Amino acid sequence: MANGPRAVLSLDIGGTKLAVGVVTEDGRTHALSVEPTRREEGPGVIVPRLFGMGQRAIAESGLAVEAVGISCGGPLDATTGVLTGPLHLPGWVDLPIVDLAERAFGVPAVLANDATAGALGEFRYGAARDAATMVYLTISTGIGGGAVIDGRLHRGAAGNGGEFGHVMVRTGGRPCLCGRRGCLEGYASGTSIALRAREAVAERGEGSSLAQLPTVRAEDVVAAAAAGDALAADLWDETLDVLSTALTDLVNVFEPDLVVLGGGVTRSGDALLVPVRERVAADALPPAAAASTVVLAGLGDAVCVVGAGAVAFDRLDQLAATGAATAAPAPTAPTAPPAKGAHRV
Ligand SMILES: [Zn+2]
Repeated sequence: MANGPRAVLSLDIGGTKLAVGVVTEDGRTHALSVEPTRREEGPGVIVPRLFGMGQRAIAESGLAVEAVGISCGGPLDATTGVLTGPLHLPGWVDLPIVDLAERAFGVPAVLANDATAGALGEFRYGAARDAATMVYLTISTGIGGGAVIDGRLHRGAAGNGGEFGHVMVRTGGRPCLCGRRGCLEGYASGTSIALRAREAVAERGEGSSLAQLPTVRAEDVVAAAAAGDALAADLWDETLDVLSTALTDLVNVFEPDLVVLGGGVTRSGDALLVPVRERVAADALPPAAAASTVVLAGLGDAVCVVGAGAVAFDRLDQLAATGAATAAPAPTAPTAPPAKGAHRV
Protein backbone atom coordinates (compact mmCIF):
# COMPACT_ATOMS: atom_id res chain seq x y z
CA MET A 1 0.00 0.00 0.00
CA ALA A 2 2.74 2.43 0.94
CA ASN A 3 4.56 1.64 -2.29
CA GLY A 4 1.82 3.12 -4.52
CA PRO A 5 1.96 6.55 -6.14
CA ARG A 6 1.97 9.65 -3.92
CA ALA A 7 -1.63 10.40 -3.01
CA VAL A 8 -3.70 12.88 -1.02
CA LEU A 9 -7.33 12.92 0.07
CA SER A 10 -9.56 15.71 -1.30
CA LEU A 11 -12.70 16.91 0.45
CA ASP A 12 -14.87 19.45 -1.40
CA ILE A 13 -17.61 20.98 0.74
CA GLY A 14 -20.29 22.53 -1.46
CA GLY A 15 -23.66 23.95 -0.54
CA THR A 16 -25.51 21.23 -2.43
CA LYS A 17 -23.01 18.39 -2.62
CA LEU A 18 -19.98 16.90 -0.92
CA ALA A 19 -17.36 15.49 -3.29
CA VAL A 20 -14.55 13.30 -2.01
CA GLY A 21 -11.75 11.44 -3.76
CA VAL A 22 -8.13 10.39 -3.56
CA VAL A 23 -5.92 12.35 -5.95
CA THR A 24 -2.56 11.11 -7.19
CA GLU A 25 0.29 13.35 -8.28
CA ASP A 26 -0.60 12.86 -11.94
CA GLY A 27 -3.92 14.65 -11.27
CA ARG A 28 -6.07 11.54 -11.51
CA THR A 29 -8.94 11.09 -9.09
CA HIS A 30 -9.59 7.68 -7.49
CA ALA A 31 -12.65 6.40 -5.60
CA LEU A 32 -14.59 9.63 -6.24
CA SER A 33 -17.88 9.82 -4.39
CA VAL A 34 -20.51 12.55 -4.32
CA GLU A 35 -23.35 12.93 -1.82
CA PRO A 36 -25.92 15.63 -1.17
CA THR A 37 -24.69 18.02 1.53
CA ARG A 38 -28.08 18.17 3.29
CA ARG A 39 -26.89 21.38 4.91
CA GLU A 40 -29.92 21.53 7.20
CA GLU A 41 -28.21 18.78 9.22
CA GLY A 42 -25.49 21.23 10.33
CA PRO A 43 -21.75 20.74 10.70
CA GLY A 44 -22.06 18.39 13.73
CA VAL A 45 -23.58 15.75 11.45
CA ILE A 46 -22.10 16.69 8.09
CA VAL A 47 -18.42 16.83 9.08
CA PRO A 48 -18.36 13.25 10.48
CA ARG A 49 -20.24 12.09 7.37
CA LEU A 50 -17.71 13.87 5.15
CA PHE A 51 -14.80 12.27 7.03
CA GLY A 52 -16.53 8.88 6.70
CA MET A 53 -16.66 9.41 2.92
CA GLY A 54 -12.95 10.19 3.11
CA GLN A 55 -12.12 7.00 5.02
CA ARG A 56 -14.09 4.93 2.50
CA ALA A 57 -12.34 6.64 -0.43
CA ILE A 58 -8.93 5.85 1.06
CA ALA A 59 -9.90 2.21 1.63
CA GLU A 60 -11.41 1.86 -1.84
CA SER A 61 -8.43 3.46 -3.59
CA GLY A 62 -5.94 1.19 -1.82
CA LEU A 63 -3.59 4.19 -1.61
CA ALA A 64 -1.84 5.69 1.41
CA VAL A 65 -2.65 9.39 1.60
CA GLU A 66 0.00 11.82 2.81
CA ALA A 67 -2.22 14.86 3.30
CA VAL A 68 -5.80 16.13 3.15
CA GLY A 69 -6.83 19.03 0.92
CA ILE A 70 -10.15 20.72 1.73
CA SER A 71 -11.95 23.12 -0.59
CA CYS A 72 -14.92 25.21 0.44
CA GLY A 73 -16.58 28.49 -0.50
CA GLY A 74 -15.60 31.56 1.49
CA PRO A 75 -15.33 33.41 3.67
CA LEU A 76 -12.68 31.26 5.28
CA ASP A 77 -9.24 31.70 6.77
CA ALA A 78 -6.84 29.47 4.89
CA THR A 79 -3.90 30.49 7.08
CA THR A 80 -5.54 29.20 10.29
CA GLY A 81 -7.59 26.49 8.57
CA VAL A 82 -10.89 27.85 9.87
CA LEU A 83 -14.22 28.18 8.05
CA THR A 84 -15.22 31.60 9.36
CA GLY A 85 -18.73 31.62 7.88
CA PRO A 86 -19.16 30.28 4.33
CA LEU A 87 -22.11 32.01 2.65
CA HIS A 88 -23.44 28.68 1.33
CA LEU A 89 -23.25 26.91 4.72
CA PRO A 90 -25.33 28.78 7.30
CA GLY A 91 -24.24 27.98 10.88
CA TRP A 92 -20.69 26.91 9.99
CA VAL A 93 -19.13 29.69 12.04
CA ASP A 94 -15.47 29.55 13.10
CA LEU A 95 -15.22 25.82 12.40
CA PRO A 96 -11.57 24.61 12.67
CA ILE A 97 -11.90 22.16 9.80
CA VAL A 98 -8.14 21.69 9.35
CA ASP A 99 -7.62 20.72 13.01
CA LEU A 100 -10.54 18.31 12.80
CA ALA A 101 -9.27 16.72 9.58
CA GLU A 102 -5.72 16.36 10.92
CA ARG A 103 -7.02 14.58 13.99
CA ALA A 104 -9.34 12.34 11.96
CA PHE A 105 -6.81 11.31 9.31
CA GLY A 106 -3.45 11.71 11.08
CA VAL A 107 -1.79 13.59 8.25
CA PRO A 108 -1.33 17.32 7.54
CA ALA A 109 -4.42 19.08 6.19
CA VAL A 110 -4.85 22.34 4.31
CA LEU A 111 -7.85 24.51 3.48
CA ALA A 112 -8.42 26.53 0.31
CA ASN A 113 -11.20 28.63 -1.13
CA ASP A 114 -12.90 26.38 -3.71
CA ALA A 115 -12.34 28.74 -6.63
CA THR A 116 -8.70 29.19 -5.60
CA ALA A 117 -8.31 25.42 -5.54
CA GLY A 118 -10.03 25.24 -8.93
CA ALA A 119 -7.55 27.74 -10.34
CA LEU A 120 -4.61 25.63 -9.18
CA GLY A 121 -6.26 22.46 -10.50
CA GLU A 122 -6.73 23.98 -13.96
CA PHE A 123 -3.20 25.37 -13.87
CA ARG A 124 -1.52 22.11 -12.94
CA TYR A 125 -3.74 19.51 -14.57
CA GLY A 126 -6.34 21.21 -16.78
CA ALA A 127 -6.69 23.81 -19.52
CA ALA A 128 -3.79 25.98 -18.29
CA ARG A 129 -1.11 23.29 -17.99
CA ASP A 130 1.22 25.22 -20.30
CA ALA A 131 0.51 28.70 -18.92
CA ALA A 132 2.67 30.73 -16.55
CA THR A 133 0.07 33.31 -15.59
CA MET A 134 -3.63 32.54 -15.69
CA VAL A 135 -6.88 33.81 -14.24
CA TYR A 136 -9.75 31.44 -13.59
CA LEU A 137 -13.42 32.20 -13.15
CA THR A 138 -16.06 29.69 -12.17
CA ILE A 139 -19.46 30.94 -13.33
CA SER A 140 -22.05 28.89 -11.53
CA THR A 141 -24.59 29.57 -8.76
CA GLY A 142 -22.22 32.43 -7.88
CA ILE A 143 -18.98 33.56 -9.49
CA GLY A 144 -15.64 32.69 -7.92
CA GLY A 145 -12.12 33.11 -9.16
CA GLY A 146 -8.46 32.58 -8.64
CA ALA A 147 -5.17 33.54 -10.20
CA VAL A 148 -1.81 31.91 -10.77
CA ILE A 149 0.86 34.55 -11.30
CA ASP A 150 4.24 33.55 -12.75
CA GLY A 151 3.60 29.94 -11.76
CA ARG A 152 2.54 30.70 -8.20
CA LEU A 153 -1.00 30.49 -6.83
CA HIS A 154 -2.15 33.86 -5.55
CA ARG A 155 -3.87 33.32 -2.20
CA GLY A 156 -4.11 36.76 -0.63
CA ALA A 157 -3.69 37.66 3.03
CA ALA A 158 -6.32 35.19 4.32
CA GLY A 159 -6.72 32.96 1.29
CA ASN A 160 -9.68 34.62 -0.40
CA GLY A 161 -7.83 36.60 -3.08
CA GLY A 162 -9.29 36.46 -6.58
CA GLU A 163 -12.94 37.24 -5.85
CA PHE A 164 -13.52 38.17 -9.47
CA GLY A 165 -17.29 37.82 -9.09
CA HIS A 166 -17.23 41.08 -7.17
CA VAL A 167 -15.51 43.33 -9.66
CA MET A 168 -17.90 46.12 -10.56
CA VAL A 169 -19.40 46.15 -14.02
CA ARG A 170 -22.30 48.60 -13.51
CA THR A 171 -21.78 51.46 -11.05
CA GLY A 172 -24.90 51.68 -8.87
CA GLY A 173 -26.33 48.61 -10.58
CA ARG A 174 -28.06 45.52 -9.30
CA PRO A 175 -27.62 44.65 -5.61
CA CYS A 176 -25.10 41.91 -4.85
CA LEU A 177 -24.92 39.46 -1.93
CA CYS A 178 -21.68 41.14 -0.84
CA GLY A 179 -23.55 44.37 -0.08
CA ARG A 180 -22.39 46.45 -3.04
CA ARG A 181 -24.24 47.22 -6.25
CA GLY A 182 -23.22 46.39 -9.78
CA CYS A 183 -20.92 43.39 -9.21
CA LEU A 184 -20.35 40.91 -12.04
CA GLU A 185 -21.99 38.19 -9.95
CA GLY A 186 -25.23 40.18 -9.80
CA TYR A 187 -25.55 39.87 -13.60
CA ALA A 188 -23.72 36.85 -14.94
CA SER A 189 -24.00 34.06 -12.35
CA GLY A 190 -26.49 31.35 -13.22
CA THR A 191 -28.71 32.58 -10.40
CA SER A 192 -28.58 36.19 -11.61
CA ILE A 193 -29.18 35.34 -15.28
CA ALA A 194 -32.32 33.46 -14.25
CA LEU A 195 -33.43 36.27 -11.94
CA ARG A 196 -32.90 38.96 -14.59
CA ALA A 197 -34.86 36.81 -17.04
CA ARG A 198 -37.80 36.41 -14.66
CA GLU A 199 -37.86 40.16 -14.03
CA ALA A 200 -37.74 40.90 -17.77
CA VAL A 201 -40.52 38.40 -18.48
CA ALA A 202 -42.69 40.03 -15.80
CA GLU A 203 -42.03 43.52 -17.23
CA ARG A 204 -42.00 42.96 -20.99
CA GLY A 205 -42.41 39.27 -21.64
CA GLU A 206 -45.30 39.37 -24.13
CA GLY A 207 -44.33 37.39 -27.19
CA SER A 208 -41.24 35.82 -25.62
CA SER A 209 -40.98 32.04 -25.48
CA LEU A 210 -39.56 32.49 -21.96
CA ALA A 211 -43.03 33.59 -20.80
CA GLN A 212 -44.35 30.10 -21.60
CA LEU A 213 -42.01 28.39 -19.13
CA PRO A 214 -43.11 27.61 -15.56
CA THR A 215 -39.78 28.94 -14.29
CA VAL A 216 -36.89 30.38 -16.28
CA ARG A 217 -33.36 29.06 -15.75
CA ALA A 218 -30.09 30.40 -17.18
CA GLU A 219 -29.88 27.60 -19.75
CA ASP A 220 -33.38 28.49 -20.99
CA VAL A 221 -32.14 32.01 -21.76
CA VAL A 222 -29.22 30.63 -23.78
CA ALA A 223 -31.45 28.23 -25.72
CA ALA A 224 -34.14 30.84 -26.44
CA ALA A 225 -31.52 33.39 -27.55
CA ALA A 226 -30.06 30.83 -29.96
CA ALA A 227 -33.57 30.19 -31.30
CA GLY A 228 -34.03 33.88 -32.08
CA ASP A 229 -36.14 35.04 -29.13
CA ALA A 230 -35.56 38.81 -28.92
CA LEU A 231 -35.99 39.18 -25.15
CA ALA A 232 -33.67 36.23 -24.45
CA ALA A 233 -31.15 37.61 -26.94
CA ASP A 234 -31.14 40.95 -25.07
CA LEU A 235 -30.61 39.20 -21.75
CA TRP A 236 -27.82 37.02 -23.09
CA ASP A 237 -26.15 39.97 -24.78
CA GLU A 238 -26.07 41.91 -21.52
CA THR A 239 -24.57 38.82 -19.83
CA LEU A 240 -21.84 38.65 -22.47
CA ASP A 241 -21.29 42.40 -22.18
CA VAL A 242 -20.73 42.45 -18.40
CA LEU A 243 -18.60 39.32 -18.55
CA SER A 244 -16.44 40.74 -21.34
CA THR A 245 -16.10 44.02 -19.45
CA ALA A 246 -14.84 42.25 -16.33
CA LEU A 247 -12.54 39.92 -18.28
CA THR A 248 -11.07 42.84 -20.23
CA ASP A 249 -10.16 44.50 -16.92
CA LEU A 250 -8.61 41.26 -15.65
CA VAL A 251 -6.62 40.84 -18.87
CA ASN A 252 -5.35 44.42 -18.56
CA VAL A 253 -4.43 43.93 -14.90
CA PHE A 254 -2.76 40.51 -15.09
CA GLU A 255 -1.76 40.16 -18.76
CA PRO A 256 -2.34 36.40 -18.40
CA ASP A 257 -1.45 33.76 -20.95
CA LEU A 258 -4.89 32.31 -20.41
CA VAL A 259 -8.27 33.24 -19.00
CA VAL A 260 -9.96 29.96 -18.06
CA LEU A 261 -13.74 29.89 -17.65
CA GLY A 262 -15.49 27.03 -15.83
CA GLY A 263 -18.75 26.39 -13.98
CA GLY A 264 -22.27 25.47 -15.05
CA VAL A 265 -22.97 28.59 -17.14
CA THR A 266 -20.01 27.75 -19.41
CA ARG A 267 -21.86 24.62 -20.56
CA SER A 268 -23.34 27.13 -23.04
CA GLY A 269 -20.02 26.58 -24.87
CA ASP A 270 -19.43 28.63 -28.02
CA ALA A 271 -22.52 30.75 -27.36
CA LEU A 272 -20.48 32.23 -24.51
CA LEU A 273 -16.88 31.66 -25.51
CA VAL A 274 -16.86 33.03 -29.07
CA PRO A 275 -18.42 36.46 -28.43
CA VAL A 276 -16.54 36.94 -25.13
CA ARG A 277 -13.25 36.09 -26.80
CA GLU A 278 -13.95 38.59 -29.60
CA ARG A 279 -14.95 41.40 -27.25
CA VAL A 280 -11.98 40.94 -24.92
CA ALA A 281 -9.58 40.81 -27.89
CA ALA A 282 -11.10 44.03 -29.25
CA ASP A 283 -11.23 45.94 -25.94
CA ALA A 284 -8.12 44.92 -23.97
CA LEU A 285 -4.95 46.97 -24.29
CA PRO A 286 -3.02 45.71 -27.32
CA PRO A 287 -0.07 43.96 -25.62
CA ALA A 288 -2.32 42.14 -23.15
CA ALA A 289 -4.94 41.36 -25.80
CA ALA A 290 -2.31 39.77 -28.03
CA ALA A 291 -0.85 37.71 -25.17
CA SER A 292 -4.10 36.43 -23.68
CA THR A 293 -6.59 33.81 -24.83
CA VAL A 294 -9.95 32.99 -23.27
CA VAL A 295 -10.61 29.23 -23.05
CA LEU A 296 -13.03 26.88 -21.35
CA ALA A 297 -11.92 24.84 -18.31
CA GLY A 298 -10.64 21.31 -18.82
CA LEU A 299 -11.46 19.49 -15.58
CA GLY A 300 -15.25 19.67 -15.58
CA ASP A 301 -17.13 18.79 -12.39
CA ALA A 302 -14.03 17.29 -10.74
CA VAL A 303 -12.20 20.63 -10.71
CA CYS A 304 -12.47 21.33 -6.97
CA VAL A 305 -11.49 17.79 -5.95
CA VAL A 306 -8.46 17.84 -8.26
CA GLY A 307 -7.68 21.42 -7.18
CA ALA A 308 -7.83 20.59 -3.47
CA GLY A 309 -5.45 17.72 -4.23
CA ALA A 310 -3.04 20.11 -5.92
CA VAL A 311 -3.21 22.42 -2.88
CA ALA A 312 -2.45 19.45 -0.61
CA PHE A 313 0.57 18.39 -2.68
CA ASP A 314 1.86 21.97 -2.49
CA ARG A 315 1.41 21.86 1.27
CA LEU A 316 3.47 18.68 1.48
CA ASP A 317 6.23 20.26 -0.59
CA GLN A 318 6.17 23.27 1.71
CA LEU A 319 6.38 21.10 4.83
CA ALA A 320 9.25 19.11 3.33
CA ALA A 321 11.06 22.35 2.51
CA THR A 322 10.71 23.60 6.08
CA GLY A 323 11.43 20.21 7.66
CA ALA A 324 8.05 20.22 9.39
CA ALA A 325 6.62 17.10 7.77
CA THR A 326 6.60 15.26 11.09
CA ALA A 327 4.40 17.88 12.76
CA ALA A 328 1.11 16.09 12.01
CA PRO A 329 -0.68 14.54 14.97
CA ALA A 330 -1.47 10.85 15.40
CA PRO A 331 -4.85 9.74 14.01
CA THR A 332 -7.90 10.46 16.19
CA ALA A 333 -5.63 11.62 19.03
CA PRO A 334 -7.96 12.44 21.94
CA THR A 335 -5.34 14.70 23.54
CA ALA A 336 -4.21 18.20 22.68
CA PRO A 337 -4.98 19.60 19.21
CA PRO A 338 -2.01 20.47 16.99
CA ALA A 339 -0.12 23.54 18.09
CA LYS A 340 -1.47 26.76 16.67
CA GLY A 341 0.41 27.64 13.55
CA ALA A 342 1.56 24.08 12.89
CA HIS A 343 -0.48 24.09 9.70
CA ARG A 344 -0.02 27.63 8.60
CA VAL A 345 0.25 28.12 4.87
ZN1 LIG B 1 -20.54 41.65 -4.95
